[in-house]
Amino acid sequence: MKLSPVELSSTVATESENGVRRMTTQRMLRQRLEDLRRAGVTHVPAGVSELVAAIALPAESHRPAKPATATRAQVASMLQHPASSSRPQPAAVGSADSPPVRRSTIEATPVARTPAAHAPVRQFAQPSAALPKKYSADMSDPQRPCSTLSRSERETQLTSLADRVAACIRCQELAETRTQTVFGVGNPEADIMFLGEAPGADEDRQGEPFVGRAGKLLNDIITACRLTREEVYICNILRCRPPGNRTPNPQEAANCREFLDGQIEIVNPKYIICWGSCAAQNLLDTKAAIGKLRGEFFDYKGIKVLCTYHPSYLLRQPAAKKDVWEDMKFFRADMGVKL
Ligand code: SF4
Repeated sequence: MKLSPVELSSTVATESENGVRRMTTQRMLRQRLEDLRRAGVTHVPAGVSELVAAIALPAESHRPAKPATATRAQVASMLQHPASSSRPQPAAVGSADSPPVRRSTIEATPVARTPAAHAPVRQFAQPSAALPKKYSADMSDPQRPCSTLSRSERETQLTSLADRVAACIRCQELAETRTQTVFGVGNPEADIMFLGEAPGADEDRQGEPFVGRAGKLLNDIITACRLTREEVYICNILRCRPPGNRTPNPQEAANCREFLDGQIEIVNPKYIICWGSCAAQNLLDTKAAIGKLRGEFFDYKGIKVLCTYHPSYLLRQPAAKKDVWEDMKFFRADMGVKL
């Protein structure tokens, strides 16, 4: 049995008038075709199939667009004009202007997150006031990577990590107010890593950690320890300046932890010196006061961690310099250097 388009349209119209108005036209047509097939209709005019396809097309186009992942260029553009858009508007995937985006690559890269949709990679812990695990000489921590990377490999990996940091917008407020990210500087093969809190105004301007007045004091301490700045690697808990130099909040520290852990893993130092309570408490996941954390080594993945006062604190409280000097003597003695 064959049906003309006119007969089919008439059948549909009749049923519409009989109370099936709630069905979409597309569903009605499909259902009617199925009914006709069951009734023995084996052929429909070519025009009917095209009619179904034509009706189906607008329905498809009304589907919500799958959010496209932003490219780095789009993230950078959004950061340059933070007020212009709360979300990047990526070009169509695979368009002539934009090469296809490999979803797996972008998803593994935090720079692709939008401010609205970002999620911290690491939820911040609820630290206790208990002292963290102390370092013990006979401790063999399987977590500590035994780095076999060459200097150039470390430099390459640090550069790659710094590129990701430069485009990071996990902390929306910081990303919108920073002049630039402050990644870290120093010897990629250093045995000693200095860890501070966050960039201040000078660091934000120059893109390097510890360059202001506190940085000058740190340089003096480095010299007094018979070291050079080039022998250590220096970075912070955060890589963006908190507005007004406020203390980093726990979520910001958690957001940035992946980058810190990346730097620690690549540089693979034997010692980490935490300057100030923010660095000490965040690295060691503790609320213990800096005064209680001084004077002994704690363990972080098999690395000896020494905590002492921040140079900024010493500028306000010069009397604490003698305590820092005691800490430096203790630390350098462990390296076989008598001060
Ligand atoms: S502080 Fe760290 S996590 Fe936050 S936006 Fe800057 S680089 Fe990203």
